[in-house]
Amino acid sequence: MTVRIVETLDPRETEAFGAELAAGLNAGDVVLLAGELGSGKTTLVRGAARALGVSDPVTSPTFGIGHRYRGADVTVSHLDLYRLESLEHEDPELLADYLGSGQIAFVEWPEAAGSELDNACLRVTLAHAGGDRRRIEVVELCASPSGKPRFARASR
Ligand code: ADP
Ligand code: MG
Repeated sequence: MTVRIVETLDPRETEAFGAELAAGLNAGDVVLLAGELGSGKTTLVRGAARALGVSDPVTSPTFGIGHRYRGADVTVSHLDLYRLESLEHEDPELLADYLGSGQIAFVEWPEAAGSELDNACLRVTLAHAGGDRRRIEVVELCASPSGKPRFARASR
């Protein structure tokens, strides 16, 4: 398990870090995003989505649980489960449209999904660190076929 911690000083740096992470992702990957409101989860997804070729504006889902965006080679799914307590009383297929082959899925507030997201590849945790600073911790949960960390790069 590889852990990497960075600190960003403004939203653009968080977007750039999202883009950097996106470079290591493959279709089918799931990225979990934890952290309180305003910590920059959606901002990071925006940067990642841009890097994956999404040209539509990336915004927080306000109706329903997510958005799907067309990227260059993949569909980029952006889920926000904030309003869900659990999936217990939901349609069992609720997440199905957003996950799976051909898609890279970013999931804010993944706790509600319980074990459905156990196969996630990255867990990103963002935290306020004073003013516009954000501390971002990335835990790599999946290995590359070669067994090497996919997102390795010395912490900065
Ligand atoms: P979340 O999805 O975690 O609720 P958002 O990405 O929607 O958070 O919002 C983060 C807010 O904080 C935005 O208004 C953004 O401009 C601001 N912000 C300030 N500094 C940063 C930073 N270093 N990284 C990310 N967002 C930042
Ligand atoms: Mg958000």
